[in-house]
Amino acid sequence: MRLYNTLTRRIEDFAPLRDDTVRMYACGLTVYARGHIGNFRTFVCLDVLRRALRHVGGHRMRQVVNFTDVDDKTIAGARRDGVPLREYTDRYIAAFREDAETLGIEPAEESPRATDEANLRAMVETIRALEARGHAYRSDGSVYFRIASLPDYGKLARLDHAGMQDGARIDSDEYAKDAARDFVLWKATGPDEPTWDYGVGPGRPGWHIECSAMALRLLDGSPIDIHAGGVDLIFPHHENEIAQSEGSTGEQFARFWVHVEHLLLGSDVKMSKSLGNVLNVRDVLERGYRPSALRYVLLSTHYRKQLRFGWDSLGQAEEALRRLMDCLARLDAVTAPGAQADVAERVGAAREAFRARIADDLNTPGAIGAIFELVRDVNTAIDAGDLGVEDAATVREAFESFDDVLGVIALRRREEAAPPVDVLEIESLIEERRAARRQRDFPTADRIRDELDARGIVLEDTPAGTRWKRK
Ligand code: AMP
Ligand code: ZN
Repeated sequence: MRLYNTLTRRIEDFAPLRDDTVRMYACGLTVYARGHIGNFRTFVCLDVLRRALRHVGGHRMRQVVNFTDVDDKTIAGARRDGVPLREYTDRYIAAFREDAETLGIEPAEESPRATDEANLRAMVETIRALEARGHAYRSDGSVYFRIASLPDYGKLARLDHAGMQDGARIDSDEYAKDAARDFVLWKATGPDEPTWDYGVGPGRPGWHIECSAMALRLLDGSPIDIHAGGVDLIFPHHENEIAQSEGSTGEQFARFWVHVEHLLLGSDVKMSKSLGNVLNVRDVLERGYRPSALRYVLLSTHYRKQLRFGWDSLGQAEEALRRLMDCLARLDAVTAPGAQADVAERVGAAREAFRARIADDLNTPGAIGAIFELVRDVNTAIDAGDLGVEDAATVREAFESFDDVLGVIALRRREEAAPPVDVLEIESLIEERRAARRQRDFPTADRIRDELDARGIVLEDTPAGTRWKRK
């Protein structure tokens, strides 16, 4: 496999360092809201990377995807809702797991929460190591990283040292490149904030230290093979992770840095919770689109290009997937005996093209192109009566191997096994039920509700009207 490495700004040959196992850390969701489809673009692309490393690279995986369950945003959200932090973040972790499963994302080997005690203790150990090595200092009960103590601070984001002020501090988790400052490792807390005391005074971790400590603890020390996330994490998050990890161990932290470009909504705006322009997986399904179509849209643009999301792209994805599934169904109907030499050769070429394109920095659009060229040739061969049952098996095997990496056919099969739900029909049943209730015909209203329930659709009556969702 060849991968673009943000650290070197080059495409490089990739192989894991130790025992053919890829040690990979991907920054997970900050669990203060249900993840939006921009977040899931990153998670789906990294799932394709994981599958490619296994099925094309032939490696084993040891992958960690964390939950950021303590930071400025989660604390503010829990306070706003008046619930304990853990109870607040539990909801969004459950929602993430549901959406990830819906999109066919393979579970990582580890999915730690920052507030698990072993992780908090690991963070404190890392901070103590930084203090011992002269990279950290205390001020007003908090502990800060001194960026001037690390000459290569800024190497990932390529920062210019000229504008950095020694000793200027920043307490918030997120800030811009031109505000590169000494950042907080452990933050003094107020009386009603979640607080832990494991050796550097009462407080709570800064966002960046969480990932450094979890990556080093769960991936057996440095260097790890791949560290990944969306491009917005390059600065300050990943830059600071490097500073903390390399400052505390004296060794390289991660060999490869992989960053997924943003999903944009509308013309040119990054989908983001803080901008309020978000759609989540459920919103897409409620419009009647299937998970396979969403996964297809999220993976069919190269991960280093921005993806402009539009509803029409889901329609096109549905159409492409229908063509693929129709071709598979036609293969099942082939009855002519035997095999044709040129079909086997054609399948071999498609497999090679798919493999080469995926191995080339995860060129998913190119790989999908190879699949649809094969679909076209197979359809032509079937039309001409030039395809036998043995060929059909060879083609089917090829499609299965493509899907080990892309994971869309498997989703489609799962959807087709589930009872179909027609959005327009649901809407019209809801309307009928509303009319029945207006006429105080409650038995009819209840019958409609039960009928939908039996088909996996639950209704929710709100002051703004009736909403529905899948169970
Ligand atoms: P967060 O919950 O903000 O920490 O983000 C979780 C992951 O989603 C990170 O890897 C982010 O870089 C990524 N991400 C956030 N917004 C987008 C977006 N609009 N498009 C793609 N990835 C995103
Ligand atoms: Zn992280």
